[in-house]
Amino acid sequence: MSSLSGRQTSQRLQADSQTDRVIVGREASALATDEQYIRNAIDLARDAAKRNEVPIGAVIVRDGTIIAAATNRTVRDQDPTAHAELLAIREASSKLDRWRLDDCTLYVTIEPCAMCAGAIVLSRIRRVVFGAWDEKAGMAGSVGDLLRHPRLNHRPEVRAGVLADECAGLVENFFRAQRATSD
Ligand code: ZN
Repeated sequence: MSSLSGRQTSQRLQADSQTDRVIVGREASALATDEQYIRNAIDLARDAAKRNEVPIGAVIVRDGTIIAAATNRTVRDQDPTAHAELLAIREASSKLDRWRLDDCTLYVTIEPCAMCAGAIVLSRIRRVVFGAWDEKAGMAGSVGDLLRHPRLNHRPEVRAGVLADECAGLVENFFRAQRATSD
């Protein structure tokens, strides 16, 4: 299966769940809740941009409560692995005092990279919701699909494209501004 078909499948699944069926009651409120948590992640991403970090934010939610929140910190920590998702997973595990996060949902503004997708699988996170696709590094359907790899023993439920334009805009503006200052 090519990476493109993986992504097309995810988009189609999402379209099915949002437009082809009538969304009522509980399901409608769950979709609204997803937007609300992506908004929290967007706020974090905005703050990260002010600190000159790539503006990506993530929160982890359990039982309707945010138990972990992080942004990219690769510049501050001088650590190439300091991605928002990874830091949030570490914080959630530390808070719950267990590695298994199978009752948690991870919200992130941009499609997870290979490293973060790997960490999501390892942590058994139940559900992943993200904002914008990342054509260059995304491993939830863009470059490949690690989150729903048929050979892996855990496959979280994935919802893509929540407030996608806003999430992508943050990163685009950030890199545009960086290019402008380096010229
Ligand atoms: Zn990552």
